[in-house]
Amino acid sequence: MNEKIKPTDNYYLYSHEFDQIKSFVIFFDDLIYNYELLTKMKYILKKYKRFEKAENDDDIFDREYRYSAFVLYVSAFYSARTFKAIRPHYQFLCRGNSTVSTRVACEDHEPMFLESVQMYFDKAAKISGVSPKTISHMEAPDCMLKVTFPIEVDDKVEIITGYRVHHSRHLLPVKGGIRFSPEVEEQEVTALAALMTYKCAIVDVPFGGAKGGISVDPSKYTIAELERITRRYTVELCQKAFIGPGTDVPAPDVGTGPREMSWIMDTYRQFHPNDVDSIGCVTGKPIPLGGVRGRNEATGLGVFYGIREFISYPEVQKHTGLSGNIKDLSIIIQGFGKVGYWAAKFFEKNGAKIIGIGEKECGVYNSNGLNVDELFKYRLSNGSLHGAPNVEIIEDPLQILDLECDVLIPAALERQIGLRNADKIKAKIIGEAANGPTTPLANEILLKKGILIIPDLLLNAGGVTVSYFEWLKNLSHMRFGRMTRKWDELGKSQLVELVERNVGHKLSDTEKEQIVHGADESDLVYSGLEDTMIRACMETRKTSISKEVDYRTAAFVNAIEKIAAVYEGSGMMFMN
Ligand code: NAD
Repeated sequence: MNEKIKPTDNYYLYSHEFDQIKSFVIFFDDLIYNYELLTKMKYILKKYKRFEKAENDDDIFDREYRYSAFVLYVSAFYSARTFKAIRPHYQFLCRGNSTVSTRVACEDHEPMFLESVQMYFDKAAKISGVSPKTISHMEAPDCMLKVTFPIEVDDKVEIITGYRVHHSRHLLPVKGGIRFSPEVEEQEVTALAALMTYKCAIVDVPFGGAKGGISVDPSKYTIAELERITRRYTVELCQKAFIGPGTDVPAPDVGTGPREMSWIMDTYRQFHPNDVDSIGCVTGKPIPLGGVRGRNEATGLGVFYGIREFISYPEVQKHTGLSGNIKDLSIIIQGFGKVGYWAAKFFEKNGAKIIGIGEKECGVYNSNGLNVDELFKYRLSNGSLHGAPNVEIIEDPLQILDLECDVLIPAALERQIGLRNADKIKAKIIGEAANGPTTPLANEILLKKGILIIPDLLLNAGGVTVSYFEWLKNLSHMRFGRMTRKWDELGKSQLVELVERNVGHKLSDTEKEQIVHGADESDLVYSGLEDTMIRACMETRKTSISKEVDYRTAAFVNAIEKIAAVYEGSGMMFMN
C-alpha cells in the first residue's frame, strides 16, 4: 500500500519513496531516487533543520554513517553548479526495466542501456580534450516527453504509454527513430536518443539527437488498432511541439516502417494544413508519399559499406587474419528485420556466405550458406524460422551469437552480448548493426580476446544519413537527379562520340549506356551513403590510431569533438 507518511506542513513522503530513501541510505552507490523526491527531501530537511529530528521520528536514519551519506549526497546535489554536472535528474532512469530479450545475456549487476552509453561516453570524454563544462552540457538529455492515452481494444480500454526524448538540440531539427516494442521505456529511449546525437555528428548529418517509442508489442494489435495508436501518439507529439520539419523529424526503428511513417505524416498534416514543408516532418516514408529511393535498405547497406571498409585496412587484415575480400567472409546475423535482412542481402549479393541467422523464436544455421530471400519469405508466411528447409535449427535464440564465423552482426536489440555470453563469442569482427548490443563489461572481454568491434554509433548510421537525404528532398520538393540527369547524359554522349570519332572505334550499346547513364535518385543516394560511410570509418580509424584506442572510443571522441565545436561556437546561452 502506498500510504502517506511523515507529513510536514506541505510535504510528505509516500511509503514507496520512504523505501527508496532507505535503499539509498543503505546502498549509497546504488542510488534509486528521482528529482521530485529530492525536492521533497530538501523541504523536509529545511523543516527539521537538524536531521536528527527526523531520525527520532523513525528508525531509518539510525546510524551515523547513513546519515552522513545522506547529507553528503544532498549537499552534493544542491551545491552542483548545474543539474547536469552530477546527472541527478536523470540518473534514476538508468534503473529501467528490461524484458527477457534484453536481460538474458546479462548479469543482474550489469548496467542498463543508458548507463552503458554514459560509460562509453565518459571514457571517450576523458581523452577528448573537451572541457568538463561542455561535456556535462552535452551529455544530459535536453527534454523528455512521456504521454499516456487511452485506446479501445476488444471493448476494453487500454492505456498506452509513449515517449519522445530530445537528447541534444545543438542543431535543429533533432532526428531519431520511433520504436514500437515492449522494451520501450524512459531509459531505453534516452539511451537511443543520446546515441542519435553522437551518430549524427559522426556522419556529419547536421541534426540533433532524438528518439521516441511506444511501449507495445505490435504483433498483438490489428492494423487498424496500430493506426489509431500511431495517430494518437502523433497528436500528442503535435500538441507538445515534438514533431515538425524544423524541430523534430522521426523515422522508423524496431517495430515500425514506411506504413507507420505515412500515418505520422498524414496526422501531422491535419494539424498543419498550410505548412508547405509538412511532408518533411518524418522520414522513411513510402516513395509516393515523399520517401527517397534507398531509405528502406539504407541501414543494412551502410553496415555493408562500413564492414567492407574496415576489412580493407591492412592493420585489420593483420589483426584478424581476414583477406579483405567480401567473398571470403562467413557471416552470422542476429535479427532478421529491416536492418538484418538488408545487411544479409548486400553481403550475399557481394559473394559472402551467410551461415547463420538468429531470430527471437530460434536460429538457423548452414555452414554452406543460407538463401536469404528464401528464408525471409519463409518466415514472413510462417511467422517463424522453425521448419525452414535446408537449415539446422538452433532452438536457443541467443546461441547463434556463439557460433564460429568471421563477422557477427547483431541487428536486433540492445544488451545481446553481456557477461553471460561474451566469453563464448568466436567471431573475428563484431559489426554492431543494432543499437547498444554490447554491454561495457562484455566489451572489455571481447577487446581482450582480440575481437574487433565496429561500433553501433558508426556502423548503423546509414539510416540517419539517408533520412537526411529524404528530408532534403522533401524541403526541395523535387526528386534527386530530376534537373540534371538528362543534361549529364547529353554532355557525356557528346564526349563519347568525340572520342569514338578520334580513335576510330565504336563502343557497343551496353558500354555506351554504362558511360553515358545519368545519375538517378537511387544512384545518388547510394553514392552519397557510400561516401559518407567510408569517410566516417576513415575518421574513426585515424582517431583510433592517433589516440591508441578502440574504434568505439574513437568514434565517441570524434562525435564529442564535433558537437563541442557547435556548443562552444554558439556560446552556450544562459549557462554562465
Ligand atoms: P525490426 O523491427 O525491423 O527488426 C528487428 C528484428 O529483431 C525483428 O525481426 C525481431 O523479431 C528480431 N528480434 C527481436 N528480439 C530478438 C531476439 N531476442 N533475438 C533475435 N532476434 C530478435 O527493427 P530494425 O529496424 O531492423 O532495427 C534493428 C536494430 O537496428 C535496432 O537496434 C535499431 O535501433 C537499429 N537501427 C535501426 C535503424 C533503421 O533504420 N531501422 C537504423 C539504425 C539502427
